[in-house]
Formats: sequence, C-alpha cells, structure tokens
Amino acid sequence: MGADGMTLSFWQRQAQAPEVTVDIAIVGGGLIGCSTAYWLRQLRPEARVAIVEAQHLAAGASGRNAGFLLQGTGPDYMGAVERYGAQRARALWHFTRENRALLATELTPSAFQLETSGSLTVAGSADEDERLQEAVSRMRQDGAPVAYIPPDATNQRLMAQHFHGALYVPSGAMLDPVALVRHIAAASEARVLAHHQVVAVQARGDAVDLVTPRRRVRAGQVLLALNAYLPLLVPALRQYVRPVRAQMLATVPQPSRWLHVPAYTHDGYYYIRQRADGTVLLGGARHLHRAEEVGYADETTEALQRDLEAYLHRHFPQLRDPTVRHRWSGTMGFSPDGLPSYGAVPGLPGSFWAAGFTGYGLAYGFHFGRVLAQVALGHSLPEGADLFAADRFEEAQAKASPFSEVSSS
Ligand SMILES: Cc1cc2nc3c(=O)[nH]c(=O)nc-3n(C[C@H](O)[C@H](O)[C@H](O)COP(=O)(O)OP(=O)(O)OC[C@H]3O[C@@H](n4cnc5c(N)ncnc54)[C@H](O)[C@@H]3O)c2cc1C
Repeated sequence: MGADGMTLSFWQRQAQAPEVTVDIAIVGGGLIGCSTAYWLRQLRPEARVAIVEAQHLAAGASGRNAGFLLQGTGPDYMGAVERYGAQRARALWHFTRENRALLATELTPSAFQLETSGSLTVAGSADEDERLQEAVSRMRQDGAPVAYIPPDATNQRLMAQHFHGALYVPSGAMLDPVALVRHIAAASEARVLAHHQVVAVQARGDAVDLVTPRRRVRAGQVLLALNAYLPLLVPALRQYVRPVRAQMLATVPQPSRWLHVPAYTHDGYYYIRQRADGTVLLGGARHLHRAEEVGYADETTEALQRDLEAYLHRHFPQLRDPTVRHRWSGTMGFSPDGLPSYGAVPGLPGSFWAAGFTGYGLAYGFHFGRVLAQVALGHSLPEGADLFAADRFEEAQAKASPFSEVSSS
C-alpha cells in the first residue's frame, strides 16, 4: 500500500540496517506523533514504541509554527457556534483548555519556554469587532472567561494603530514549538528512528511492515501522525486532509519588547508575537494568495512576504521597514470541516491515523495524542473526543461540500 514511487535496489536492500521490531510504530515525529508516544508510555509503559520520522523531530509544521497556544477552534467563537453548534463549540473549547492544562501539569514548561501571557484576538474590521463583542457573554456562559478591550485601549496596549477591539483570553499562551516536541519525545522514552522515510506500509500476517530506505520496521500496530503528508502515504485517506502552505518572517531583535501577548488579528489571517529578546515573529497573509498557498512546496514567495511587511508598516509604526533576518514556510493539513480527525487505516486492523489540524495543532496536539493513544489501546475516550472521529464525515457527506474554507493561520 501507498508506495511513493521509490524502489530499493538489491544492493541497497543488502546494505540496510537490521530490522526493528516494536509493539507500536508511530509514523511522523511532529507534535502529534511525539505526544502519542508520550501517552502510550503513560498508559502502557511496557509497550515498545518507535517514532519513525522521514527527517528529524519537528521537521514539519510542528517545528515551523508561531508557537501560539490558543484556546478554542480558531479566532472566532461565534463562528464555531454557527459552524459546529453551541454544544460542540463549548466541548471544543474545553478540549483545548484541557490541552493547555496538560502541557503545564504533565511536562516541564520551562523546557519549552511556556509564557503564560494570555492571548489577544484582535479585530481588523468593524464587523469582526462586533462579532468579538457578541462572543463575550456567550463565552463567559460557556465557561470561557474573556475580556473585551475597546479599540483605543487595544491599540494602546499593542503600541499599534488601525486595529479595532480585541478579546483577551487569559488562558492563551506562547512557547517554543521545537523545544516542545523534543521535550515530549524525550519524556516518551520512545525509540526515535530519524531519517527513516516510510515509503510503504504492508500488512504482514498479524503485524505491519513499514518499508523505509534504511530498514524495515515491523510493528503490531501502526499510528500515522503525518497530518498534511498522510495522503502521500495512504492516498485512500486524501478526503480527510489537504496541504496548505503558511509563511512567516522573523525580524532582527528590536531594541525593546512592547508586545507581551500573542496577537491573532484579521480573523486569524495574521498572527504576531514578540520574543523576550525583542525578535518579532509574524505570519499570515495567506488569504491574499490563496491560489498559490497550497501544496507541499517548502518555499517563500516575494509577493506574500511583501504583504507581511506591509502589515507591519500599517499597524506597527515603530516597526517600519524592519530588518528581516529569517523567512520560512510550512505545510499545514486542512480538514474538510476545520477540525482534526482520527480514524482506522483501511486494510490494517488495529492501526489508526490522525490528521487535519488546520493551522491549530498546538491548541489540540498534546491532548489529541492522548486520544490517539487511547484509540490505539482500545481504552474508553475522554469527554469530547468523539467530536474528532472521522466517521462524522460519512453522515455529513451529503450535506457539506468538502474543503469549504475556514479562516486559520
Ligand atoms: C507557519 C505555520 C504557523 C503555524 N502556527 C501555529 C500556531 O501558532 N498555533 C497552532 O496551534 N498551530 C499552528 N500551526 C499549525 C501546527 O503547526 C500544526 O497543526 C501541527 O504542527 C501539526 O502537527 P503534526 O504532528 O500533525 O504534523 P507535522 O508537524 O507536519 O508532522 C508530520 C511529520 O511527518 C513526517 N513525515 C512526512 N512524511 C513521512 C513519511 N513518509 N515517513 C516518515 N515521516 C514522514 C514529517 O517530516 C513531519 O515531521 C502553524 C503551522 C504553520 C505551517
């Protein structure tokens, strides 16, 4: 199943490293794969677990994101209520809140520079501002304490201009995403097989063989944590996730730090934060380049990067014409309804996949790893986890057109 067109010569096969046999092999060393390994360790310490990764830990979106630890499904709670219904929007909020709590209680937050700063959802237009205001009482009722900040105070607080109002979410936070993934992987004590690109997954009696150019990995169960890359290995699952590119930039450190919270603006189409050393990180502008920002090409474009700089120019006068020291891109996995999913791998009993984090993987990821581990071990799932079962699409298929756009980073 699912070879990517690569073959191995007789000589290459002769020269391969010895086969590895484990109980559970996780394919993909991003946040989801490593979190799943962590929870497998907690739930079944005796299981032999390997993380099989094409490049190195956090090589994908997990190591390229902005490090915003947001709460909820996206920037707009009312949008979530409309899209998923009031009950599901509430359950999703609580799922992400639990994710945030687990990161702080299970792990060592200083290892990944967790800043418990709160976060801001900032309106870029009067309409958005109105929706944010509408959300306040609804969110409070639903157990999500937030505060509305009027336009003048928002601009003052951000030392910015031309923004409308904002929602302050006290439980929002920011972190170093590469350090997070490495920390979780180390805590999982799983064997990490880096530079092992899985080119095929083959059922072999009761076991599953993962074929990589370096060696074969034999496992009792396989968990595919590939997000955007899932359809490249298992084309039959392509209806659940599609690749969408996001771009970011980082300035040289600025003389002072004025931004102490991550700010998500313009319906989440821009996101900006500043590190303690003064470096400003900015991503977004994808909505201005939708046709180009799809697929797997890991490259930045001049046009989009110009729009990111134009945003700085318009909103942050103190940052006009900053020196940009780094620009990069990453591949997100968008799902048909904006929510991540887990499901069974067709043809491989006992094996599962998770994908479709749609630009919000940090908000769900660590908790989602627990769900995937529980699914794999046949344990009962925590409240709210059924929201993510991929079979929801079978019911919805007749109604929804797949891959209708949702706002996200
Ligand atoms: C620029 C950018 C900014 C973002 N900002 C945020 C943010 O601030 N907050 C937030 O919540 N989310 C953000 N996201 C989204 C978030 O990063 C993702 O949702 C999350 O990292 C997904 O994690 P993952 O482990 O599922 O996927 P990935 O991190 O993509 O991991 C998949 C792994 O699989 C490996 N792989 C692929 N094919 C194979 C193969 N055949 N064999 C073996 N290994 C393979 C890849 O190398 C990769 O390491 C952002 C994304 C991007 C790109």
